[in-house]
Amino acid sequence: MYYRSSDGQQILDACAGLWCVAAGHCREEITSAVSAAMSKLDYAPTTQFAHPLAFEAAAKVAKLMPEGLDRIFFTNSGSEAVDTALKIALAYHQARGENQRIGFIGRERSYHGSGFGGTSVGGVSVNRKAFAGALLPHVHHMPSIHNLEHNAFSRGQPTWGAHLADDLEKLLALHDPSTIAAVIVDPMAGNVFIPPQGYLQRLREITAKHGILLIFDEVITAFGRLGKATASAFFDVTPDLLTMAKAINNGTVPMGAVAAHRRVYDTIIANSAPGEADLYHGYTYSAHPTAAAATIATLDLYQKEGLFERAASLAPAFERAAHALRDAPHVKDIRNLGLCAGIELESRPNGIGERSQEIFDGCFEAGVLIRHAGDFVAFAPPLIIEEAQIEQIFDTVRKVLMSVK
Ligand code: PMP
Repeated sequence: MYYRSSDGQQILDACAGLWCVAAGHCREEITSAVSAAMSKLDYAPTTQFAHPLAFEAAAKVAKLMPEGLDRIFFTNSGSEAVDTALKIALAYHQARGENQRIGFIGRERSYHGSGFGGTSVGGVSVNRKAFAGALLPHVHHMPSIHNLEHNAFSRGQPTWGAHLADDLEKLLALHDPSTIAAVIVDPMAGNVFIPPQGYLQRLREITAKHGILLIFDEVITAFGRLGKATASAFFDVTPDLLTMAKAINNGTVPMGAVAAHRRVYDTIIANSAPGEADLYHGYTYSAHPTAAAATIATLDLYQKEGLFERAASLAPAFERAAHALRDAPHVKDIRNLGLCAGIELESRPNGIGERSQEIFDGCFEAGVLIRHAGDFVAFAPPLIIEEAQIEQIFDTVRKVLMSVK
């Protein structure tokens, strides 16, 4: 649960590194598997042939995916997983003879990585600013689901806002649904925007009705964050493509993946010419043996320690502790789901982000690592956290909030 700072202080990790280290740091079960794999097979390309660890990792990942999403494509990051999913969506429609489906719909304020595809479908304006005008064409954005007027201080999933999914119908009416390849959303965003009850179900219905693929970007939610293997399982909505990374191997070795529905995979395969690759897309380090070994050991460890169930059982205590800060100074909103929570702070006039930086600094000095961006702080600890550590995190944040102007 801890980092150690260069001056020897123990720092309680309240954000699992960057949403990755679900089983806690430096787990021997993973490091020894990585070391053994590295000594045995340092590298093998997976373009012309493959190695057993690649298949074993794929089979283990597939088992945790929603029904039908059992075709796994390995990447080295979440950004590559997103770009890969977008390209698979295009290839799928082309294989069906629907070459006109070249558009994508993302959502304002959603983050989908730093690749060209992910930046284009992403809806974070500062991330797009320096590249404006040069991003992918044919990309549109639905409005964000974030709504303080109706949903401030909601606990878990807000009850208000399923109708926001109808904004997708409005966008489709504007841009002709038969030109759209896929809709991509993060079922729970890094700024802890929680989908209102029924919202994702409606997105699913609308995309299915128009023959559009639905991509869930689960880079932060896959592998237990919400108390289930995936957010798709948690919300009971099955996408056609699902991207993952981070906790896939506890953050130890760069690794991401896309899970594709068998139907999508079969369509692309059926259309590939004899002697040609099914999909001309891949990376030198796809399914790298070291990353694959780390994935196998990590997924075994999650299962052995029942960490997804543990996250589910700790979620109510986490929610209570986070929302206890409602009356603390500067707090504008508190949001939570599973083992994650976020606090939105009042911004200082002319000083956006200053206060959250001071809160980050104060917590660090007090031995707790949190995450901050803009005037928002987030908490997503390793799933091995104890209740006393949950108390420690939010008690520390309260004290620091009270000391900050
Ligand atoms: N999608 C989401 C939802 C993410 O949170 C992130 C990373 N924070 C990414 C994609 C990109 O992943 P990576 O940084 O591994 O490229």
